[in-house]
Amino acid sequence: MAKLILKGGRVVDPAAGVDGTFDVLIEDGVIRKLGKSLPVNGAEVLELPKGAIVAPGLIDIHVHLREPGQEHKETIATGTGSAVAGGFTAVACMPNTEPVNDHAGITQFILTRAREAGHARVYPIGAVSLGSRGEQLAELGEQKSAGCIAFTDDGRPVATALLMRRALEYAGMLGVPIIDHCEDPSLKGDGVVHEGFYASALGLRGIPGAAESVMVERDVSLAELTGAHVHIAHMSARQSMRAVRAGKERGVRVTCEVAPHHFTLTDEALNGPVKYDTNLKMNPPLREAADRDAMLEGIIDGTVDVIATDHAPHHSDEKLVEFDRAPFGIVGLETAVPLVFDRLVHTGKITISRMIELLSTNPAKVMNLPGGTLVEGAIADVTVLAPDMTVHVRAEQLRSKSKNTPFDGWELRGGVIATIVGGRVMYTKSEV
Ligand SMILES: [Zn+2]
Repeated sequence: MAKLILKGGRVVDPAAGVDGTFDVLIEDGVIRKLGKSLPVNGAEVLELPKGAIVAPGLIDIHVHLREPGQEHKETIATGTGSAVAGGFTAVACMPNTEPVNDHAGITQFILTRAREAGHARVYPIGAVSLGSRGEQLAELGEQKSAGCIAFTDDGRPVATALLMRRALEYAGMLGVPIIDHCEDPSLKGDGVVHEGFYASALGLRGIPGAAESVMVERDVSLAELTGAHVHIAHMSARQSMRAVRAGKERGVRVTCEVAPHHFTLTDEALNGPVKYDTNLKMNPPLREAADRDAMLEGIIDGTVDVIATDHAPHHSDEKLVEFDRAPFGIVGLETAVPLVFDRLVHTGKITISRMIELLSTNPAKVMNLPGGTLVEGAIADVTVLAPDMTVHVRAEQLRSKSKNTPFDGWELRGGVIATIVGGRVMYTKSEV
């Protein structure tokens, strides 16, 4: 099989404690060697520009690919095309498709489609309960055998504490995490934005931060009771961060993720030039400055394990309705890296090494996935980053089938040069 050498980049692999200028030799889909001035020996050579960072492939563990059932929003092919364009070599996809991924046939269908598409790796996540209805536990064991790497009723919380307890016990035996969409439905009610000043000012119904954190508290307690691993998805509220930090301090197996929009934006954006912009409607909602700051603090102090996008494509026809009626969610795969560079790295909040930990090392660790490192013998999933590349976000130019982003028109510093999956170059920035 073809050999490929990446020449001249700064290799940053936190898992292996590597940070330095090395060539990387890829052969037969695995990392063969890191070294200085490796001989070319007939290999294809990718000469990297000055300043390029060679990272283990980025992994997004929270993506809605919409197929089967909602192919007008996204397909496995377009979603994974969007992933590689955003620097992600692998994505884990949420089970709230139509039908819900609650049995092996659907998991196998997703894996087949992903293979046909041939862009990024796809790791299906199965539903905790049949139809994610919160009544009866799905066949987690069968689903794991079919290829599911974790379980969640994402889009909804796991309905009852008892069901969550059983799910954690079962998943614990299988050695996989339960991913937790934390929301108390009674507190959320029919809220559409964060409960606070801007909700009142704009006359929109609010969702308090406590709607999230009471569920985080419940499930941290249940992880403690069962000894199993709970992973808190898309954290947004400062009270939730406190609960996770406290859980970690007493040794509970809890991990968590934050989405780029929750450390970038606040509900103040709702009062921007475009009033009632439905591309600012997501669940959990954009919260107030103190919550955004708590997300940043968690990212800086290590409480946050993973940055995941919660990529949630919706067709423009669905978003072009009154704010109250629009679906929750925004696309995120192609804006995550520029936002992390621009808002976290270039502001001095985190190092590039910590960035890679949040986007590659830890996602692999938390979900027990291959990759997340460039040690010899690892799968050759590699992302080449350009910290100083200027990125103009243009919704229309996104590879995702949907264009629902609040970052349209933004100019950000830092982007992706190349995405390599299993030793094959799946994406290169055209001007490189
Ligand atoms: Zn969710």
